[in-house]
Amino acid sequence: MLGSVAFGVLLVAAVDRIWGHSNIAFAAAILVLLIANAPMLRFNCPRCGKNAFFRGPFVIPWPNRVCTRCGQDLRETHSQNR
Ligand SMILES: [Zn+2]
Repeated sequence: MLGSVAFGVLLVAAVDRIWGHSNIAFAAAILVLLIANAPMLRFNCPRCGKNAFFRGPFVIPWPNRVCTRCGQDLRETHSQNR
């Protein structure tokens, strides 16, 4: 997860250096980053459906261990992610 974020940052930096600063290149890099993180967006609480990566209004690059809405222990259901 952190690797894909780091990859996205490096991609933006590389694109910026090769083509110069471009909104299109930046948008493409963000798109790649979103595709790389698509599994993250499906990482939801099995009980209430809340995304494990959201803590209130903030998105964090690692999942909550316990659901912030209903208290479900997410380590049991998503043990393959950690
Ligand atoms: Zn929940």
